[in-house]
Order: sequence, then C-alpha cells, then structure tokens
Amino acid sequence: MTPWSRFRKSARVLREQLGWRRFLKLADPFLARSIDPIDQQRRPESILVIAPHPDDEAIGCGGVIALHRKRGDAVHVLYTTDGGRPARGAATDSNQPATRRTEALRGLDILGGATQEFLDLKDGQGDISDTGVKAIAKSIEAKKPDRIYVPWMLDNHRDHKASFEMLRKALAGSIPGTAIWQYEVWTPLVPNRYVPIASVLDLKERAIRAHETQMKSHDYASASLGLAHYRGLQGGVDAAAEAFFAIPAEKLELFTEL
Ligand SMILES: [Zn+2]
Repeated sequence: MTPWSRFRKSARVLREQLGWRRFLKLADPFLARSIDPIDQQRRPESILVIAPHPDDEAIGCGGVIALHRKRGDAVHVLYTTDGGRPARGAATDSNQPATRRTEALRGLDILGGATQEFLDLKDGQGDISDTGVKAIAKSIEAKKPDRIYVPWMLDNHRDHKASFEMLRKALAGSIPGTAIWQYEVWTPLVPNRYVPIASVLDLKERAIRAHETQMKSHDYASASLGLAHYRGLQGGVDAAAEAFFAIPAEKLELFTEL
C-alpha cells in the first residue's frame, strides 16, 4: 500500500468517526427506544421506500415491507440508481440494469407486492441530482406517505448518502405527520425503533435471494438475517427484528450539518 492510499484510507476513517460524534450529539433527544410491531390496528397507511439500488429495500427493510403489505398498507418503492455498476472485478454488462429491475419486481412480489419507479441515476456516482430531488418530491406529493423509509444518514455508501440527501432536499423543511424511518445496509445505525419480523423472516430472505446477480458476489441474505437476529436480541424483541432510526420529517433539518 502506498503512503498516499494509506492516507486516503485513514482520512476516510477519521471522517466517519467525526460524523458519528456529531450524529450522536444531534440524535440524543431522539434515542428513546421502542418496539413497533406494525401489525397493530391502525388505519391503512401510505408507505414510501427509497432504495438506492435494487436489493437495498429487501436487505434494509424487507421485513417491514412485508408487514405493511400484510396489514393492507400501500407501499411504493422508488429506486434512485439503475444498479448498473458491475461487481468488483466483473466486466460491465449493459443488460444489468434491466436484469436488476426484473429481480427487484420479483423480490417485491415475494414481499406482498408494491408499486415502484426507477429514476435510473448512474450507479456508483453518488449523484445528488435535481432530477432525482424533483422526482422524489413528486412522489411524496402523489403518495402523501405517512412513513418514508430511506438509508440512514451515515450509511457508508455514496449512493446511499446521496439518496438520503435528495430526500432531505425534496422535503424542503417539513411535511407534518410524515415520519422518516432510516434503515441500515452498509453501516449499523443507532436504533430508536425495533420491528419484530420473525413472522415474515422467510419472505425477507427469499426477497433478498431474488436478487440473484448480487447474491453471486456476496451472501447478503445470510448477513442480513444474522443482523436481524442480533437486532432482535439487542432490542429485547426475543426474535428477529429490523432496527431503525426514526424521526419526524421536520426534524431532518437538525442534521444538516452532519
Ligand atoms: Zn445499495
């Protein structure tokens, strides 16, 4: 490893650590934990899921999507990138975005079905594009979501951070009554909500495995299920759980400096 690449790697670690320190300070008022079973009796809700790549919705919140569908909530999934970046070491395949679309639809069917849209931003660029912000704003206007699921603000992938940032811009301050539920994919978050998902764990696993192109390079299904078992134990659920950091939409602005 050259001194330069060593420096770049350590600078990245430092940047992450500083982000964490700031996050913990700002998040403090919201860190009281609770368990939300989702299957309780409430009026049907409108749910928006923002996924940077096809598979993030299943890995990050496949369990809650299945639970929302079981209780009759309308779920709309908005994919921001086209998922076209090849796995490390693999050649570019121009059919990959279309293949991943098909996998995404198959995965959503397993979770109980959802409407979806694909913004087709270029995978891996971390683009915070005006087109993306406008499309998210339009979707929010149309769906009037009670909850929005999105990768959490420190999730360590540039497309995931970009998706969060585009959502923040799209919300432009506040939508009273909308809760932003942030989910974890690449970086474990600091949870304030746990959702028991034992009843739909098999659906989550099958939905992740539907993303066959991705499962070839990494066993995301086993990793995600392992995390779900750990989160269940940690959150006092005593069975598998998904963990989230949830705040009202109007509080997002508090984290702008992160
Ligand atoms: Zn992703």
